[in-house]
Amino acid sequence: MQKLRCHCCGKELPAGTLKYVLELKSFADFDGYLEEYEGNIEEGINYLLETIDGLDEKSLEAEVSREMAYILCKPCCDRFMNDPFQTGKPPVRSDDVKGTVH
Ligand SMILES: [Zn+2]
Repeated sequence: MQKLRCHCCGKELPAGTLKYVLELKSFADFDGYLEEYEGNIEEGINYLLETIDGLDEKSLEAEVSREMAYILCKPCCDRFMNDPFQTGKPPVRSDDVKGTVH
């Protein structure tokens, strides 16, 4: 059986070790604002449909939402949850940024 390792630091995580599953989900946010389209609307729609046609289902799905999961050791999980992008800024509560989603 393949040994389980922390996705971040690579430390081995033998059976019985405290480990964390980090689930990441990103999705396209919609703020309710539609840019006014200048030009022939029918042409615009046709262009949009052609663009969508050119994308396979997976690519299209990835444009809208993505989900991933990682196994982390406790120190890596703590570090991520406190400052995921290592910006030195305090973490933001999800309710504070999802105000644009209806
Ligand atoms: Zn780790």
